Amino acid sequence: MVIGHFGVGFGAKKFAPRISLGTLFIAVQWADLLWPVLLLFDVEHVEVQKANPKIPLNFTYYPITHSLLMGIFWGFCFGLLYWLAKKNVRNAIVLGVCVVSHWVLDLIVHRPDLPLFPDDSDKVGFGLWNYPLLAILIEAAIFITGLVLYLKTTRAKKKSGDWGLWLLVVLLVLNQVAGAVSPMPSSGHAIGWAAQYQWIFVLLGYWVDRGREVR
Ligand SMILES: [Zn+2]
Repeated sequence: MVIGHFGVGFGAKKFAPRISLGTLFIAVQWADLLWPVLLLFDVEHVEVQKANPKIPLNFTYYPITHSLLMGIFWGFCFGLLYWLAKKNVRNAIVLGVCVVSHWVLDLIVHRPDLPLFPDDSDKVGFGLWNYPLLAILIEAAIFITGLVLYLKTTRAKKKSGDWGLWLLVVLLVLNQVAGAVSPMPSSGHAIGWAAQYQWIFVLLGYWVDRGREVR
């Protein structure tokens, strides 16, 4: 799941309008931003399965980024850091929930490869990726709902907040389509490097958000 996570980031703006969209994107996508780094350092592992085009990645070991308990831990860290910086409990909680939301959304689509605990023992996943059409419909619904909430919560005050937002939306949709049709990188390390481009969406999130204001 990719675009669904960003949808949660957009939607979270309604519940914490003072947090920049860029920060919300880092929170909802934290697991997938940290994961490629840990792949590069051989801390976590993934197998590319060329024979299975529906689910080309076999997530063999990723309990630091993708176990439920570590998700809650990262969420707590995000909330605590935010609270220390801004002393706003509500926003800190929203940010923490955003981090944990990543695991919950992944749970819907992943095969039972998501560990509950950092020891990588019990693994869960509803496996909706086996039904690609249904998976993409649910993901699209989450994305559109989040985007609508963001549009209702904010309005453009500069041109960048208007066309910049639509540029961001188009790039996210293109990224989703490209991910579905383009060949998978051949190794975990190649994925680790390739996945760094996601930071572009974070930077765009900050830039777009500065061009908008709360309604
Ligand atoms: Zn993930």
